[in-house]
Amino acid sequence: MNLSKSKYVNGVQCKKMLWLDKNKPNEKTEIDNESVLKNGNLIHEVAKYLFGEHINIDFNENLSEMINNTALTLESYKNVVITEASFNYNNNFCSVDILKKVNSKYEMYEVKGATDIKDVYLKDVSYQYYVLTSLGLNVTKVSIVYLNNKYIRKGDLDLKKLFVINDVTQKIIELKEEVKANIDDINKYIENETEPNDDIGLHCFKPYECAFFKYCSRNLPTPNIFNVRNLSLKEKDAFYKKGIYKYENLINEKINPNYKIQIEYELYNKKDFVDKEKIKEFLNTLKEPLYFLDFETFQAPIPLYDGSRPYDQIPSQYSLHILENEKLEHKEFLAEVGIDPRRSLAERLIEDIPLNVCTLAYNMGFEKGVIKKLAELYPDLEEHLMNIHDNIKDLAIPFKWKWYYSKKMEGAYTIKIVLPALFPNDPTLDYHNLDLIHNGSEAMNSFAELGNKSEEEQKYIRERLLRYCELDTYAMVKIYEKLKEVIL
Ligand code: SF4
Repeated sequence: MNLSKSKYVNGVQCKKMLWLDKNKPNEKTEIDNESVLKNGNLIHEVAKYLFGEHINIDFNENLSEMINNTALTLESYKNVVITEASFNYNNNFCSVDILKKVNSKYEMYEVKGATDIKDVYLKDVSYQYYVLTSLGLNVTKVSIVYLNNKYIRKGDLDLKKLFVINDVTQKIIELKEEVKANIDDINKYIENETEPNDDIGLHCFKPYECAFFKYCSRNLPTPNIFNVRNLSLKEKDAFYKKGIYKYENLINEKINPNYKIQIEYELYNKKDFVDKEKIKEFLNTLKEPLYFLDFETFQAPIPLYDGSRPYDQIPSQYSLHILENEKLEHKEFLAEVGIDPRRSLAERLIEDIPLNVCTLAYNMGFEKGVIKKLAELYPDLEEHLMNIHDNIKDLAIPFKWKWYYSKKMEGAYTIKIVLPALFPNDPTLDYHNLDLIHNGSEAMNSFAELGNKSEEEQKYIRERLLRYCELDTYAMVKIYEKLKEVIL
């Protein structure tokens, strides 16, 4: 089989993944990793300049072209930095993110978009080391390059501070024999003519979620142990291995009672549960006028603005519903494209939310985190922003603690699950009925792409972004009203 870095890593996780990929590719489920891929590409592009001048081997579907161009470049220079240098040894292909040639010695640098080192990266790099050294290259140093989450941008990007370079040479040398054995194993396995019957388990989720899980678990009843929310993967796997995966069997097992509620409600088709006293206590902590707030943010792996770090959540939009004596008012903010949105958003926020009022967020940790960062960034606005921060209450609490529980919530308490459970037949509260943008990641991606759109397209997308965010806070208002209704 022709292996690549990613195929090798997949094969080490589970050989069956490669077998299915070859023989039953249509059984794959889509896993949304569009933004991960985009971020990864961007980080690679920036990291290529870590060692200054370099020669890039352009991608070519004909991999031989890339391999030949690499060989020519290496022959032409005694000392050179090549990005995407490509090699093939015995049908094992790889492109090295950054390859530094110093006289006749080589240093390999593998760039990752993470902010720490994960074990799986060593697998990826050891495969590349195996290919290069098997071809006779004298690789003297192997490093993993990743983002430094302590780096705070001030002015121009400082690549030496933005990236951490971790020398893993010794670990990689030790893995060389293992790589060879793994490749032999994979090649033998892939030749199976009939489908191997390897069972599902922890390896279906670690280090990466496998796109074939739905297919491989097709014989399990629905729901089953893997549908129990919040239970750790380790526990799920342990039950599964003991043959305990049906809800009727799980109900008698020792499981955190908070998680067991999901099994119990679905198994016995139980009616909604409402703890009126607890909900009443919660509602008594709220005082109208109420400000229902929701932010949309985007994450830039490479800090775009002064004072920001890799992957900081940059707020770009908010929706605010204000409720007083049954009168509802709506305010909103959406940043302009191409400029740092934080200052203008913070200024509008303190205009829209006065001091000492009760603000409601759903899962408030996120909103509080955004406001706290804005307060740190703008000391002149700190007092007001922290006043909003300190007066935020969390509307998710009654659902998080299951004071209000419906089997339709399937153990979760996110607004996207709670809302249809409480209002199953209200089309105005159905995110599916929105145009273009239906969830947070679509909103994030759409905003990030705005700069590449025509004026007309921008107008259209901005309107959809506003309606999406508006629904988030309108949904909160309806949930609040529902809580008031159920305690009567
Ligand atoms: S779902 Fe699990 S068993 Fe099936 S291919 Fe993926 S990792 Fe392997």
